[in-house]
Amino acid sequence: MMAAHIIDGKAFAATVRGKVADHVAKLKDEHGITPGLAVVLVGEDPASQVYVRSKGKQTVEVGMTSIEHKLPADTDEATLLALIDTLNTDPEVHGILVQLPLPKHLDEDLVINSIDPAKDVDGFHISNVGLLGTGQKSMVPCTPLGCLMMLRDYHGSLSGMDAVVIGRSNIVGKPMAQLLLGDSCTVTIAHSRTKDLADVVRRADIVVAAVGRPEMVPGDWIKPGATVIDVGINRIEKPDGGTRLVGDCDYASCAEVAGAITPVPGGVGPMTIACLLANTVTACCRANGLPEPSGLTA
Ligand code: NAD
Repeated sequence: MMAAHIIDGKAFAATVRGKVADHVAKLKDEHGITPGLAVVLVGEDPASQVYVRSKGKQTVEVGMTSIEHKLPADTDEATLLALIDTLNTDPEVHGILVQLPLPKHLDEDLVINSIDPAKDVDGFHISNVGLLGTGQKSMVPCTPLGCLMMLRDYHGSLSGMDAVVIGRSNIVGKPMAQLLLGDSCTVTIAHSRTKDLADVVRRADIVVAAVGRPEMVPGDWIKPGATVIDVGINRIEKPDGGTRLVGDCDYASCAEVAGAITPVPGGVGPMTIACLLANTVTACCRANGLPEPSGLTA
């Protein structure tokens, strides 16, 4: 049996970061502009702290300014909205990211929709969702943008391909489906109520799994030669104690059938922050009326 091509997200993310760094250097040299990304973290969620730290580190590594605002878990809504307002009007800030999830007493939708859509580098603002849905220029959510970049890099054109997205979340599944539709795939969105999921997945030339259930997609659901993009990040216990990360797809059996597959870890994961940096440089160019870097947007 032919083994699948492994799509190396770690290497591809490094390439994306390199392109971002080149463009940042150009903005500085030719225009005296340094793109700035502000990250707001409310509370002490350990996973969020890890994400925010690596976002800040990678932002600096590509030559951009990283601005971090860490607020206590009991921060009230008015204080948070006032901070966002300040960042919205700060000309040195081109991207604003509010780390989710927020503490329960804060209204996530209200907070996200208070960000200037032009600075909404997560692409979660209702305006950006609408722009993406109508095929207009927008800020695109980072994880699906990373998946799209990997698919385009591997396939060239996606036109006419049958794509199945498993999962309908606002941050991955739905925007992923919009992006694939934008690239002229025939798109099916499957979810927890889908009947005969195995049959639906078997039709797909492209499978994007974004569910959050460890190894739920077995190899015998995959059409021979299909491309499998595994967004899931699940920590499971190993038989000998300790834990390891697995995706939503059963890697071993899927890799036997697929034409190409992203591993977990080292597939979609590293692309997310790379795309956040890409979105920040794109937002900076748009804010200054300058041409956008090619290959870093949808
Ligand atoms: P979510 O919980 O918001 O959504 C999960 C979706 O899966 C839902 O729409 C649900 O309908 C669907 N679903 C649940 N059970 C199902 C079943 N049995 N069959 C088919 N569909 C089912 O999750 P999310 O935020 O979209 O994240 C999905 C996964 O992707 C998680 O493992 C998450 O950790 C991972 N993730 C990774 C990255 C990254 O790589 N950087 C980013 C975001 C999310």
